[in-house]
Amino acid sequence: MSKGKGSEKRFRSSLYIIDTKTRSIKLKNKQCPRCGSIMGYYEPGGARWYCGKCHYTEFIKK
Ligand SMILES: [Zn+2]
Repeated sequence: MSKGKGSEKRFRSSLYIIDTKTRSIKLKNKQCPRCGSIMGYYEPGGARWYCGKCHYTEFIKK
């Protein structure tokens, strides 16, 4: 089951990132390595990708 009942959970839904090196815009969303669904990007509590389908979470190291 999912942790935390999150009405207070905030997340950013900006779908694109701008690559300053190539000056191109890329789709920010990533495909889930486990089930192949599109993952969401969440920031509070640490930047991470989260799959709403299989609940796979991948933390982004900086
Ligand atoms: Zn998944």
